[in-house]
Amino acid sequence: MLGLLKGMGVTLKNMTKKKVTYKYPDEPVKMPERFRGIQHFDPEKCIVCNQCARVCPTDCITLTGRKHPDPNKRGKIIDTYDINFEICILCDLCTEVCPTEAIVMTRNFELAAYSRDELFKDMEWLHDNNTKIRGGSQ
Ligand code: SF4
Ligand code: SF4
Repeated sequence: MLGLLKGMGVTLKNMTKKKVTYKYPDEPVKMPERFRGIQHFDPEKCIVCNQCARVCPTDCITLTGRKHPDPNKRGKIIDTYDINFEICILCDLCTEVCPTEAIVMTRNFELAAYSRDELFKDMEWLHDNNTKIRGGSQ
């Protein structure tokens, strides 16, 4: 009987406490400031140095670029930039080596999809990936 009363006491005490669980996925979860989530890519900043693709341990970045069409300007411009999130391990190495911060990690982690093909993200998707985050932008 004493045990039952003790147990009821613990239950009643915890019923009045603030909840520690989230209603995810119905309600978005805002991740901590330094969370390493899916990358955001800014084509304007990319100098097509290829360092991100070279350092990637899983070879999931593919990119193409070309010489700047304006003869008065030096350097290259990016044409395509894709990441295959089937094999990306979100290790952060690509963002660490990028000299211009064209690629940065965000707090977005939602990648669930019904098809593997949907995990192949192109430049446009990666560029938008700092504004369409549930629970607030990066
Ligand atoms: S986070 Fe790591 S695995 Fe993913 S694209 Fe960057 S370097 Fe490659
Ligand atoms: S490291 Fe940065 S600047 Fe170089 S190709 Fe990758 S994203 Fe572009």
